[in-house]
Amino acid sequence: MSRSEDLYSRAQKHIPGGVNSPVRAFNGVGGSPIFFQKGDGAYVYDEDGQRYIDYVGSWGPMILGHSHPDVINAVRKQLDYGLSFGAPTEVEITMADKVCELVPSMDMVRMVNSGTEATMSAIRLSRGYTGRDKIVKFEGCYHGHSDSLLVKAGSGALTLGVPNSPGVPADLAKHTITLQYNDIEEVKSCFAEIGDQIACIIVEPVAGNMNCIPPVSGFLETLREVCDASGAVLIFDEVMTGFRVALGGAQEKFKVTPDLTTLGKVIGAGMPVGAFGGKREIMEQISPLGPVYQAGTLSGNPVAMVAGLAVLNKISEPSFHAELESKTTKLMDGIKAAADELNVPLVTVSVGGMFGLFFTDQEQVTTFADVQKCDTDKFKLFFHHLLEEGVYLAPSAYEAGFISQAHSDEDIAFTIAAAKRALAKLA
Ligand code: PMP
Repeated sequence: MSRSEDLYSRAQKHIPGGVNSPVRAFNGVGGSPIFFQKGDGAYVYDEDGQRYIDYVGSWGPMILGHSHPDVINAVRKQLDYGLSFGAPTEVEITMADKVCELVPSMDMVRMVNSGTEATMSAIRLSRGYTGRDKIVKFEGCYHGHSDSLLVKAGSGALTLGVPNSPGVPADLAKHTITLQYNDIEEVKSCFAEIGDQIACIIVEPVAGNMNCIPPVSGFLETLREVCDASGAVLIFDEVMTGFRVALGGAQEKFKVTPDLTTLGKVIGAGMPVGAFGGKREIMEQISPLGPVYQAGTLSGNPVAMVAGLAVLNKISEPSFHAELESKTTKLMDGIKAAADELNVPLVTVSVGGMFGLFFTDQEQVTTFADVQKCDTDKFKLFFHHLLEEGVYLAPSAYEAGFISQAHSDEDIAFTIAAAKRALAKLA
């Protein structure tokens, strides 16, 4: 028995399913999850000493790779001063200034402890600001596990087949309207009918929780238009895309400006951090300035702030994102060429430092319905072949992949060669 298998069986005793977040249990791919011991650059090492090239990167935060010296040193320095005060610290101002500089649609920002908190708070704020209850989200998008948002959700909810979780009161879920991602006409007709009752639209500007689906031309623009016409708040959930698909996030890349933005992952460098912010007029409704309540004992935690700032400073260097994007493109082009050569039907997608692999003979994948037509069995086999070769992909066909600055040309070449051998077994 491997040490990972042993740990997994021990973990079952006091941890539900042996994991602290469901997709980690490998339900999406079968088999026993890998327990990690350490990360260094593009690599993670498991408890059995096996090295993997990591394309999960803690689900997005590790845009510089694991244990980047700037981040580790910033944290070490802060440790001498203490872990938390529950009172204001200067580094919170530096963080807020930096975020608002990098994401110009954000006039003000509030720090929280996870992406879930960020989106949950942005929803409450939108409801408080507009005085309306209904919210619009898109099927297969995931915005964390708060009640209003766990309706037809993506990510682990989709992997485990519980997009509508028990425990969410029907009285609350009825306020969540779910439309089809990339369906412009459906958005227009929904708003034509009940636009004046809708508090907000929340959207992943690039969907990354049903694999990876970029917005079709005109989709994000339509969301902006219907929100302007109806007075609804447009929220871009950039927990995944923020600082990753471009320095200023998807809103910079696709040139559509939301009213509110939610952030997570990269902003915390792997520490538990989220943030939400946007237009001053809306953010001024937040407590203690305004009546909409939101708070957190550990929010703006100084250790987390210095870690996040170290990443934001590093990725602000010129050409960081151009280089990241070229790595992603190289990886996807290589895998696609291998699949074509072997006649394995595969669609690949890359957006900045995010990517998607779809086992399907469809020409492109732009909707949740398209995702559901993909061959998840092929993905499982592909995943396990790569794992055996020392390449770690997200253990689910419904998750995007992430690349970091630390992935070298050799890592990418190795991954393409391993993928080719895996595809050959599928052909
Ligand atoms: N929004 C998006 C777009 C996400 O991808 C995620 C997590 N994958 C969340 C929100 C929730 O973030 P967290 O897991 O930190 O609560």
